[in-house]
Amino acid sequence: MTIHKLTKIASTVRISITSKLDGIRSWSLQALETCPGSIESPGVLVDACKGCYATTGNYNYPNVKAPRAANKEDWQRVEWCDDMVRELMNDEYFRWLDSGDLYSLALAEKVLEVMQRTPWVKHWLPTRMHKFPKFRMVFDQMRALPNVSVRFSADSIDGSYMPGLHGSTIGPDAATFEQINGVSLCRAYEHDGKCSGCRACWDKEIDLICYPAHGKKMMRVINIKAA
Ligand code: SF4
Repeated sequence: MTIHKLTKIASTVRISITSKLDGIRSWSLQALETCPGSIESPGVLVDACKGCYATTGNYNYPNVKAPRAANKEDWQRVEWCDDMVRELMNDEYFRWLDSGDLYSLALAEKVLEVMQRTPWVKHWLPTRMHKFPKFRMVFDQMRALPNVSVRFSADSIDGSYMPGLHGSTIGPDAATFEQINGVSLCRAYEHDGKCSGCRACWDKEIDLICYPAHGKKMMRVINIKAA
């Protein structure tokens, strides 16, 4: 067994907290520039990313963008895994990438190491990087861990998904998902947009989470598609 000794240097890891997640903490990157899986063809985003919440509103404030930009450099430090493990010492749940994606295989391997070294934390990682075959092995290793839920995001906004591949999808409203068995509907819309104690996204036993669309930008995209 490998023994990892944590050194006592000041951490430059930047952690964010989004109001939706009941105070659960997150490590994030800047959206789009770290999201190669969001591109359908040159200059065209997949439908699910056209209304991305992380490209508008609060996410454009300098104090929100700065830590995401810093994290993009910071993860490349040799000590980053040690610092992340120390950061997560008191966390029960953790959300990877409230914005952005695992754009680099080296980053994905470091995130895997953090997950392996923090078995007391339940990790949720949503991603579109499964589209790139070189990432499959590291995602398989993450998924083999009892404390990790990796969800491959579907690109659609009409509720469609590939069974056995996707772990989440978006639909225009809750009614879209009523006929689908064995899935979990995100009901944050019933709780002022907050999880309010729900932890379904972290639950490895739940194969698919269905998100009713929310936000003006996403509704505009859905209306354009439907027109
Ligand atoms: S399914 Fe549950 S845990 Fe996931 S985002 Fe919705 S309310 Fe939160």
